[in-house]
This record gives sequence, C-alpha cells and structure tokens, in this order.
Amino acid sequence: MKGFAMLGLNKVGWVEKECPVAGPLDAIVRPLAISPCTSDIHTVWEGAIGDRHNLILGHEGVGEVVEVGSLVKDFKPGDKVIIPAITPDWQAVASQRGFSQHSNGMLNGWKFSNSKDGLMAEFFHVNEADGNMALLPKEISPEEGTMLSDMVPTGFHGANNAEIEYGDTVAVIGIGPVGLMAVAGSNLRGAARILAVGSRPKCIEVAKFYGATDIVNYKDGDIVEQIKDLVGGEGVDKVIIAGGNVDTFEQAIKIIRPGGIISNINYLGTGDYIKIPRVGWGLGMGHIRVIGGLMPGGRKNMEYLARLIKYGKLDVKPLLTHRFKGFEHTEEALLLMKDKPRDLIKPVVTV
Ligand code: NAD
Ligand code: ZN
Repeated sequence: MKGFAMLGLNKVGWVEKECPVAGPLDAIVRPLAISPCTSDIHTVWEGAIGDRHNLILGHEGVGEVVEVGSLVKDFKPGDKVIIPAITPDWQAVASQRGFSQHSNGMLNGWKFSNSKDGLMAEFFHVNEADGNMALLPKEISPEEGTMLSDMVPTGFHGANNAEIEYGDTVAVIGIGPVGLMAVAGSNLRGAARILAVGSRPKCIEVAKFYGATDIVNYKDGDIVEQIKDLVGGEGVDKVIIAGGNVDTFEQAIKIIRPGGIISNINYLGTGDYIKIPRVGWGLGMGHIRVIGGLMPGGRKNMEYLARLIKYGKLDVKPLLTHRFKGFEHTEEALLLMKDKPRDLIKPVVTV
C-alpha cells in the first residue's frame, strides 16, 4: 500500500509498505477523511520526538472498517468510525489510574505517527478496536468527524484541566484550531469572559464565533500588560496555553490570580526548561497550579464529544478552511499546515 511518511528529519515523501495485519482485538481501517496536525510538523521539522524513518504520518481521521480481529465485539467491516489520535492500551495500570494517555510509558497512548504508522495511508491499524474507535453518527460528515480525532478533544481537555467554572475569566494563549477548541470548551463549561490571544484575522473571527469576548494581539506588545489592563485586579482565573513556547509559562504566571490554574496543551517542540517566575508564583506559595496534558483518546470520549456536534452544541465547520478531494493531496495539505498561510485554520482531505 501507499502512505505519506516522515522519511527522516526535515524530509517527507510517499512510501510503499506492506498492509497492516489485525491482531485479535484490533481493526484495519481505510481512511475516508484525514487532517494533518501541527504535531506532525513538530515531529518532522523540529525533531521533537527524535528521528523516525519511513514512519507514515497522520493521526486525525475518519475511516471505514475493512477487517476486525476475532475478539472485536462492537464493530464490523463497512462501519464508519472516528479514530482518536490517542489509542491507549486499556489494560495498563496507568489506564486504571485515569491516565490512559501514558499507558505503558509516558505519552505511550500516542501511537499513530509516533511509535507506529499513522492514518495517511491506504490502510491503517487500530489497536484495541472496541476501546479505541467510535461509530461516526450519520448526522456528522467524515470531514467534520476528523475534528473529533484531536482538535476537539485536545481543546476540551485544556478546558477540563483548567477546571473552568461558571463565571470564570479565562485567557487562551494561541488560537490555532486547538486554542479555538479550548475557547469553545471554556464557553460550554460556563466561562463568562474569554480573552483570546492571537493575531490572524481569520482565527480572531472564529474565536469570537466560539465565545471569545476579548481579543489580545500578541504582536501589538506585551500580552501581560494588555491583559492586566483589560481585567485589572488580581488577574485571570485560568490560563489555557495552546500556542507559544517555553517562555509562555512566564507570561501565564504573571497574568493569573492566586489559586488559579494554568493548563497547557501545547506540544513544546523546542527548548529545555520552563521558567516559573518566583515572585509571580507567590514566592512558591501562591497556590497556582500548572498542568500539561496529552488529550485523552478512547471510544467514550469520542462518542460523548460527537454528541455535541450531533445535537448542535458545537459546530466544527468554521475550523475547516481548506478542503481537498483525493488522497494524492495529502502532501499539499500537510505542507499547508507547515507554512500556515494567514487564512488557514485546518486543511482536510477527503479520500
Ligand atoms: P497552530 O500553530 O495552528 O496554532 C498555534 C497558534 O499560536 C498560531 O496561530 C500561532 O500564531 C500562535 N502563537 C505563536 N506564538 C504565540 C505567542 N507567543 N502568543 C500567542 N500565540 C502565539 O497549532 P494548533 O494546531 O492549534 O496546535 C497547537 C499546539 O497543540 C501545537 O503545539 C500542537 O502540536 C499541540 N497539540 C497538542 C495536543 C495534545 O494532546 N496536548 C494535541 C494536538 C496538538
Ligand atoms: Zn494532532
């Protein structure tokens, strides 16, 4: 079969590989729609997880089941399914602790385009199919369904980890697709005021659609000053980081109130340390929590998030700015994600 792969650091291209084989609990799926991710860009062009050779990229998509293993109970060939970016080992102790993302090792639930071939292929393999796939409701198109793999669950994980409460004032730093879903998740959880930190007009327009009440442009000067001017007093209740770099944490500490929560969902592709300012952190006693999380995968999460789209509480269509028809456009779509033209939020390829 054909696949679009990371050939090595800074190199991508088409490869020919053997078709994957399903174990008793697994499934083989062919993609119906796929979307490239900024994480693929960190992986190939920043070498953030080290070198990989001929590793098929992609972890966001909807597919049709082609084959299931003998112990798979709930899926059959022909089913249309949402594939989560993170496909944990559900029997692992870490999963029983509630951290399935780290089943059998830190970040090990993240398999596609990391430790095994991803979705940008004619066929791909899904481990523990009953635990990791979700049926695509007929009300949701495969294109829209791709946003349930990673963008919706990651943004909403950011809002969940920030423990957003009714009336909260939240700053979301970075409003690419992940940050936009953090805005939407914060809005659904009841935040009163959402300050979206970004610069591109398209992203700003869509941030307002998802519930941003204030826009802070980081290209107009220090966001700490701008946010302090806007909210005054002690600062914001919560910060969700979905863009920037290791230095963004310093800004986050400076804008948050005592007892606030900083929730990172950004993939830190470069830099060695995160600096936490001593005074801003209340001399170490400010009760400011910092948490960073990989999105949870698995069937239940996908099924519940899909309900939000099915019943009209969440519309992901504004994220889909660039549409391609045909598997051969995979490369073009991935390179768009790398070059980030000003009007891009997410490209999607219908296969
Ligand atoms: P993106 O690049 O489209 O969006 C990030 C945005 O942040 C961009 O618009 C960029 O202009 C902006 N930005 C850059 N520097 C900034 C700064 N100093 N202050 C404010 N904004 C700044 O990326 P995305 O697709 O939205 O993904 C965001 C991050 O989430 C990526 O690092 C991605 O790899 C990561 N990610 C994490 C998970 C997870 O499970 N935690 C899952 C998927 C993606
Ligand atoms: Zn991703």
